[in-house]
Amino acid sequence: MTILNSERIATVSLWIDGRKAASRSSRMGEVTNPATGEVIRAVPLCTAAEINDAVAAAARAFPAWRQTPPLRRARILTRFRELLETHRSELDRLISEEHGKTVADAAGSLQRGIEVVEFASGVPHLLKGEHAEDVGRGIDCHSMSQPLGVCAGITPFNFPVMVPLWMFPVAIACGNTFVLKPSEKVPSASLRMAELFKEAGLPDGVFNVVHGDKEAVDALLTHPEVRAVSFVGSTPIAKYVYETGTRHGKRVQALGGAKNHAVVLPDADLDFTADALIGAAYGSAGERCMAISAVVAVGDAGDALVQKIAAKAARLKVGPGSEHGIEMGPLISRAHRDKVKGYVDAGEKEGAKLALDGRGLQVAGHDNGFFLGPTLFDHVKPEMSIYKDEIFGPVLVVLRAADLDQAINLVNRNPYGNGTAIFTRSGGAARRFQNEIQVGMVGINVPIPVPMAFFSFGGWKNSLFGDLHVHGMEGVYFYTRTKVVTTRWPESPEAPKGGHMVMPTHG
Ligand code: NAD
Repeated sequence: MTILNSERIATVSLWIDGRKAASRSSRMGEVTNPATGEVIRAVPLCTAAEINDAVAAAARAFPAWRQTPPLRRARILTRFRELLETHRSELDRLISEEHGKTVADAAGSLQRGIEVVEFASGVPHLLKGEHAEDVGRGIDCHSMSQPLGVCAGITPFNFPVMVPLWMFPVAIACGNTFVLKPSEKVPSASLRMAELFKEAGLPDGVFNVVHGDKEAVDALLTHPEVRAVSFVGSTPIAKYVYETGTRHGKRVQALGGAKNHAVVLPDADLDFTADALIGAAYGSAGERCMAISAVVAVGDAGDALVQKIAAKAARLKVGPGSEHGIEMGPLISRAHRDKVKGYVDAGEKEGAKLALDGRGLQVAGHDNGFFLGPTLFDHVKPEMSIYKDEIFGPVLVVLRAADLDQAINLVNRNPYGNGTAIFTRSGGAARRFQNEIQVGMVGINVPIPVPMAFFSFGGWKNSLFGDLHVHGMEGVYFYTRTKVVTTRWPESPEAPKGGHMVMPTHG
């Protein structure tokens, strides 16, 4: 944390009650352009009092918003989707500038986010309850899905637009109001989305954006008016958010880190598989929660596969994400790049075979950028730190397994369970894999099986704390609660006369 010269560098605003607000906080963070290493903006690290202001605005907006018919809410979401589409290139550039990923990759992530808004625009249908006539004599019963109140979202740096869009469009469509705290490393796109949502007709206070670190997060987790918290980030913080939020009576879904395995059987098409793994391991510089970071090569698949991956990875064009033709950008920060480099040093010391070393990479004209070239380790053992830890960088490790049994065991012993993939031509092996694997999202010859918006996204084990995944119907369930109404009218000829001292049975 540095106090910046505010005359030179713009400070990112908060968005409270439908307008930009300047922060009163004395603590500031730096937003850097990872391709150049330059500080490009300052971001306020909000105080608990500022979080109170945002929650109060959301609480004031809730009664009118929850009474707004879902169809009208849906129309505002449709206009918001149109505005996101109109502003695609501006948002893509903003994502790339603050995160470092290529503009084309940013565009893909924005598209995935837009699809959640599209899904949420169907909310009148999604909120319909059940109805049964004559559950007893003259008695009918129906269920309703009602919003919770003020919901909060806390998001990571690696998807500045897509991950916030997993949350707030669904919550708001369901009739809740929302306070978003995006990652302080990539704060600007959230603010821009708030402006566009207002332009789409969203009433003031329904969506608010605050910035900050632990102090801001703690204020949200303990605030009595916040009913539910959606979190996406690293596992230790996800666990902390889940425990703290639930201790304070909130509904919490906290998505954590990952170590995603691809199991490659000897019958797989190895060229197709190597191409798929290059994108999955090195796309977005490995900074995706669904990135493949470990390959389990089964039987004799290993040698040829490693050779193909190393050759293809060595040809990847690494440079600033804003430049046309670049395939992989920098890492998010100098500290993170150095940490990832440290893992490559450790892997060598631990005895893994370095098949491709990205440490020497130089990007001409970008000496201060946070670059690291694609790196590949072979003959990695489960006890090595490069296998055990989530590295979150362009480092792929290859382990060997004798057969599918061993491969499934290895994946299932790993404490994470976000995504996994199998590459094979055997339907039987694929079927067994999807049945036995202890992971939330599974790809069959699909390396990054990120579910579409109308399915739900979420991992198992240390990759998710809580019960419900994000978006899809699980997102709707998370942001609503069920009420069941049992009805009888006294005019009914079936209505009983006199008092009842025993437990009523309707049948
Ligand atoms: P992070 O856990 O450092 O930060 C996530 C959020 O938590 C940020 O908004 C941050 O401000 C806040 N935070 C950080 N430290 C905190 C603390 N001590 N107390 C309270 N709040 C705190 O994660 P990151 O580095 O921004 O993102 C990368 C991580 O996110 C990786 O582990 C990645 O796997 C994970 N991720 C998971 C998914 C998923 O769907 N499971 C998706 C994207 C990213």
